[in-house]
Amino acid sequence: MSEATPTDRLYAIVEQGLCIGCGICQAVAGADTVLCTATESGYEQPVVIGDLDHATVDRIYDTCPGTRVGGLPPQLVDSDAQLDPVWGVWKRMVRAWAGDPMVRHKAATGGVLTALAGYLLDTGRVEFVLHAKASTKRPTFGERHLSFSQTDVLTATGSRYGPTAPLIDIDAVLDRGAPFAFIGKPCDIGTLRNHARHDPRVNELVRYWLTPVCGGYMPPASMDAFLRRLEVNPEDVTAFRYRGHGCPGPTRIETRTTVREAHYLDFWGDDANMWQLPWRCKICPDGIGEAADIAAADSWPGGSPTREDSEHDPGTNAVIMRTGPGVELLESAVRDGALVIERDIGPEDLTSYQPHQVRKKRAVWSRYQGLADENRIVPHTDNLRLEQLSVALPTEMQASQREGTRARITQGKATQPRPQPAPQE
Ligand SMILES: Cc1cc2nc3c(=O)[nH]c(=O)nc-3n(C[C@H](O)[C@H](O)[C@H](O)COP(=O)(O)OP(=O)(O)OC[C@H]3O[C@@H](n4cnc5c(N)ncnc54)[C@H](O)[C@@H]3O)c2cc1C
Ligand code: SF4
Ligand code: SF4
Repeated sequence: MSEATPTDRLYAIVEQGLCIGCGICQAVAGADTVLCTATESGYEQPVVIGDLDHATVDRIYDTCPGTRVGGLPPQLVDSDAQLDPVWGVWKRMVRAWAGDPMVRHKAATGGVLTALAGYLLDTGRVEFVLHAKASTKRPTFGERHLSFSQTDVLTATGSRYGPTAPLIDIDAVLDRGAPFAFIGKPCDIGTLRNHARHDPRVNELVRYWLTPVCGGYMPPASMDAFLRRLEVNPEDVTAFRYRGHGCPGPTRIETRTTVREAHYLDFWGDDANMWQLPWRCKICPDGIGEAADIAAADSWPGGSPTREDSEHDPGTNAVIMRTGPGVELLESAVRDGALVIERDIGPEDLTSYQPHQVRKKRAVWSRYQGLADENRIVPHTDNLRLEQLSVALPTEMQASQREGTRARITQGKATQPRPQPAPQE
């Protein structure tokens, strides 16, 4: 049998459903060699356009969130930090919201991440914030965004539940040589931590690491199906807001001639077990932002809003501070009025707000054994306690998670075609 080429090895990440479209392989290989772009699958994925060598692919495997995921680097764990088996390293957990009612209203939940981004800029702690906003090219996607002012930050409020590649040009961002904060999904945070092992500028320049807790995003094909259910042609969409303007606020779809709104529950469905997600999200070992200074979540009991209560919910974040800099930042922001704390909470509250995260965290190790059974790439993980969490499950549950993964692979549900650029690219 012939040896896998560098291209085969990169495409294996995609074909085995492990690519989340973060964009960092383009930064690692160079945009003249690997281009992350919309492909026929509807996702943004890497396409090899130049000479790729094995050393570069080794580096990609060491950085890509599909192949390597870590928790908080041990040197950042304070001696007085607590460790919860599910929720990871933490120093303080609170319910909180933005001090400015306009920010709280516009933002996805209570505006904690937006308020912190604005606070970091106002106080000169960073020169800019790297995060994501609605894509200018594809309204249901997100795109990397740099904010230098409050006005910039406000254009990026809300959660983007579509493909989003905030790290696509991380080299150019680091080339600025200026201190910045990064807000990205837990997998984006993990990717940048991976990149830090190869590029010392990351730890010099990234002063704060902030993340939304993340259950995954909507695959492009499911998004198209959702739009068609609303009798909207996906091609006609000119603007798409997933949530915000209340909590969760309406999902708002604009075309040149119409504005349609749907409830968050119409978008995601009432049952978290039935959410349509990319395969990588189904086997995600860290949706809770273990490697961030601060992770901000929703706080609906049971994990979902109700149709009645969400009409008047002003939005309250559950916030996990994991590091000393995270605690210092949040407490300073409260002192200066940028944030309001309602009360302290603990891991049991997070568990009641996020039952789907707890289920996934406990199941992931068994799912990885299913990957190994099928000779799939098993992501390398560090400091995430996955085996420990798994053995606490009844053996029959471990077996069913493992078997379920094998079944999905053999049924082709965990496989993507080899990336081909979409025609419009
Ligand atoms: C894909 C996804 C899945 C989520 N799943 C869950 C969940 O299971 N449970 C839960 O409690 N919360 C989940 N959230 C988080 C929740 O929706 C809120 O983002 C979080 O509570 C923070 O609220 P906020 O009001 O502080 O955010 P805001 O103040 O509105 O700020 C949001 C920040 O996140 C950045 N951002 C938004 N989308 C993306 C993206 N796709 N990639 C990178 N950066 C982005 C924005 O640039 C902005 O800076 C998810 C968010 C996302 C993006
Ligand atoms: S997850 Fe990121 S690094 Fe990995 S293959 Fe996809 S785009 Fe490249
Ligand atoms: S579920 Fe995990 S892999 Fe999927 S978008 Fe969220 S953090 Fe990334």
